[in-house]
This record gives sequence, structure tokens and C-alpha cells, in this order.
Amino acid sequence: MKYLLHFLGFTSVLGVGNASNFLTGTSLGTSNLTAGAACACKELSSIYSSQVILPGSENYTAQANYYWDIRADLSPACVFMPNTADQVATAVKQFVQCDAQFAVRGGGHMNFPGSNNIDGGVVLAFNNMTNYKVNKDTIEVEPGMTWYDVYAALDPYGRTAIGGRLKTIGVPGLTLIGGVSYFINKYGFAMDNVNSYEVVLGNGTQVTANSTANPDLFWALKGGANNFGIVTKFTLKTYAMPHISTTIQVFNESSAYAFTKAVCDWAVGDSESPIGAGSVITITYNATTKEMSSTLLGVQEGISNPPSEFANFTAIPGVSKMNNVTTGKQWASGLDSPKQMFRVMFAHHSMIPDTDVLYSMIETWKNAVNDIADVQGLYPTFVANISPASAARVAKTNGIGNVWGLDEEPLIWWQLSTGWGLAQDDLRVQGWARQLTERLHTLNKQNGLAREFVYMGDAGEWQDPYAGFAPKNVQRMTEIRAAYDPKGTFSKLNWGGFKLGY
Ligand SMILES: Cc1cc2nc3c(=O)[nH]c(=O)nc-3n(C[C@H](O)[C@H](O)[C@H](O)COP(=O)(O)OP(=O)(O)OC[C@H]3O[C@@H](n4cnc5c(N)ncnc54)[C@H](O)[C@@H]3O)c2cc1C
Repeated sequence: MKYLLHFLGFTSVLGVGNASNFLTGTSLGTSNLTAGAACACKELSSIYSSQVILPGSENYTAQANYYWDIRADLSPACVFMPNTADQVATAVKQFVQCDAQFAVRGGGHMNFPGSNNIDGGVVLAFNNMTNYKVNKDTIEVEPGMTWYDVYAALDPYGRTAIGGRLKTIGVPGLTLIGGVSYFINKYGFAMDNVNSYEVVLGNGTQVTANSTANPDLFWALKGGANNFGIVTKFTLKTYAMPHISTTIQVFNESSAYAFTKAVCDWAVGDSESPIGAGSVITITYNATTKEMSSTLLGVQEGISNPPSEFANFTAIPGVSKMNNVTTGKQWASGLDSPKQMFRVMFAHHSMIPDTDVLYSMIETWKNAVNDIADVQGLYPTFVANISPASAARVAKTNGIGNVWGLDEEPLIWWQLSTGWGLAQDDLRVQGWARQLTERLHTLNKQNGLAREFVYMGDAGEWQDPYAGFAPKNVQRMTEIRAAYDPKGTFSKLNWGGFKLGY
């Protein structure tokens, strides 16, 4: 293979003959999977025996199943749980030396198999790295923390950070892919609120990336995912927000059009100085009872009760409405997304808000769900995530930017999140979700409403989020990766998740 590539002139592109591990001098990722992992597990066990979990040991199953999506349960050769950044650096050196394939796990919520787990390789899991330090207007966070941990740490200070909307999502995965919080309309995405990253590079060295140290890496980590290194500390901006005003509103099918209109109207609302407010918007369809219902979880900074930003929803007659003034910690505590919830497939695209078109997409989806109504444990959800123009504006005006390069326009990131019960239905449900999503996107392309941006947090595993980024940003990311990871540790040994192409 190596010689064939050479004759085809591909050697310089693939780095064949450059990238070599310290032991054998051969390219990374060329060793036998079992041998590489056995070497790394043995070496790590000899240094940190109590932190390496092997098959058959007490905690192995719990670690191999530490995932939201049951499809992600795999059987690693061992799980290494570092306590410090130095130990992460030692592990990365060991992976390279042994040519061992590895996966990295934060909160374990990226839902597709292999993004954060690996059959036969090594999992580096951050459960033990949960230290934090609260400063005047920042918090330093290790990658084992969930967003609930962060909100709880800031609660005594009446402050918050810009992070996940549910309790148990991990800080690292969400922050590295962009990060949708309730307050993106005012503060931008989670990535736009990181002041500094501590990073272990592919050769095991540790660097800081911020606006003055390694600024190119700093930029690339803002949405560039797991292509550049392992982040061992995030320094996040914090904001005074002692209270939030929340609303939970449920609507039945008779309000579906009005609900869709409220979604679109809310998305296009724009202000130069917005009140921080955002939502989780879901539509579920029960294929047995044939009932569809829509739910708004709305959150707004401050104490306006009911939250004023959701007036368009509040005006629609609903099944139930609950308003509350609370704290970010308290609100998040009730929004668990437990491990092992179900088998689940995400699929998503973006569009310009248009009530009639969005409503007809929801109707099409509902009818299509009937085609798979016999699937055991079916749990179909249509999700509408709103990315207002003001969220994109933050990166345009903060002097740093991010890898997305989004235009300042309102978008609805519509998503099919389809849960089911049995492995025997994997191919059927996955194929259904994929085909339906692409069909709806094609229709939107034909009517000029489609956009190619795909958010990694909502995407299916077959989708290529980088294809929707500004092309010059992808080129720059590729150059930065070549500079910081010339041997390809994070593309050849660690290949799960949404990887930048070659
Ligand atoms: C129920 C649910 C709710 C969600 N809600 C939101 C939401 O409100 N907002 C939003 O933006 N997204 C949301 N998401 C998407 C979520 O942000 C992504 O799945 C994210 O990747 C999860 O982060 P994690 O740390 O839990 O992920 P993991 O699965 O642990 O990691 C995700 C990826 O990041 C890599 N990684 C993890 N830690 C590191 C590290 N320290 N350094 C380098 N790479 C690392 C992993 O290898 C993996 O490829 C949600 C997902 C689910 C399933």
C-alpha cells in the first residue's frame, strides 16, 4: 500500500515516510490494533496501576457503558483515567510510542459509536479531572466536569458561564464543537467565551493557547473539535446572572402551526443589545396514539416573569405552562440526560426561518414516522435549534472569530433525533432518518431556504460539518493541524468524532 501510494504521488499528502513512532520508525496507525493497545495498557498500568481499568475488573462495564447512546457501548482494551495534565501528556507519548489507537471521553454525550469510545483500543476518560478555580470573571475548568458542575460552582457567586442546556453534557466536547447555550443571542457560543485552553499536543508536549500564546491554535480550537490536541483546562468567561426566568410550555397538535410561527418569529428577532434568552424546542410524535405535541423550554436572564422574550409562545393556548424564577444551577439540576438512555440517531440541516415550509417539514416528518411505527421503543423527535443573527455577530466583532465563519443571519438548525430500542433495528432507523433528512434538505435547497452549516452537536455520523464552514477557514485549520500535529496523532491514532478531512 505504501509503495502504491508513492507511485501515485500521494506520499507527501499522507505524510508516509514522515510520521513514525518512536519504537519502530513506521507510520502512525499502521500497527496491529491489539498489539498497540496491549503495549499502551501495559505501559500505563506499570506507571499508574490504579488508574487503568482492564476488562474483567470491577469498574470496566460501568466505564465501557458511560455513554448516553447505547450504540456507543464498545469494548476497549483498557480505560485510562488520568488525574492531571501531566498524566495526559504521558499517556499521549505512550500512545505514540506504542502506535496505539485511542479515544478520548469527556461527558460521553457525543452519540455515535467510536466518537468517544473504541473497540480494542484505549479510552482516555476524564472522570478524575474535575478540579476548578473560580476567578473574578472567569472559571478554570478541567475536562471531567459537566455543565451542571460548572453552574453549581458559580452559583454561590451569582454568576454563570455560557454552556450546555442540559445537566450532564460534558464541558470539553460541547465547548470544542461550538456550544449552544440559552444565551447565545447575547454572548455568542460557548467557544466564543473561552479565554484560554491548556492543550496536550500529539507529541505529548503541553502548550497554552490564548490570544497571545499560540493564537492560531486558539482560533482553531474555537469550533475545531478534536483535531488539534487534548484540552486539559478551559478558562471560561463568567457573567453576573444571579437569577433566570424560565418557562415550560406544552402544546397539542391543534397549536402546531401557531407554535411553528412563534419559532420562526423568535428566530428572526434581532437586536443590537439583546436580552440573553434561548430555548430547547422539541416536537414529539407518538406513532401509536397518533398524537403530536410541541414543547418549549425557555430561559431568560433576569427576573421578568413570565419571561418576556417568549411572549409569542405564551400567547398560544397550550396544554400546560409553568413559569419560574430560579438559578441556573437549580434549573439544570432538573434536566438530566442519563447515560444509556436509548439507541439514538441524530440527523440535521440548517434553513432560513419560514413558517409554512417548516410546518410542512414537520408534517412530512410526522407522516414518515408512521412508516416505522412498528419499531420497538421508537422515540421520534423533531428539534428546532435557533441560531439568531446576533449569535453569529459576537464572533464577527470580538477580534478573535471562530472556525465556523457564520454569516449574520437567522438560522433554524432543524434536527431529527430518533430513539429506538433494539440493535436489530439499527440499519432500518438509521437509513430512514438519513433519507428523510436529505429529502427535506433537498426541498429546502430547491426553494432557496437551505444553508449548508451543520452543527456537530446535532449531526448524524455520516454528515460532514466541515463542508459547511467557510472554505478559507477549513484551509487554515488544515494548516494549523499540520503545524501542531505533524505526525497525525489526532488523525491516525485518534480518529473518532468529527475529524477534519485529509
Ligand atoms: C442529550 C443531549 C443534549 C445536548 N444538548 C446540547 C446543548 O444544549 N448545546 C450544545 O451545544 N450541544 C448539545 N448536545 C451536543 C453535545 O454538545 C455534544 O454531543 C458534545 O460533544 C458532548 O460533549 P461531551 O464532553 O459530553 O462529549 P464526549 O462524547 O465525551 O466528547 C465529544 C468529542 O470530543 C472529544 N473530546 C472530549 N474531551 C476532549 C478533550 N478534553 N480534548 C479533546 N477532545 C475531547 C471526544 O473524543 C469526542 O470526539 C447535546 C447532546 C445530547 C446527547
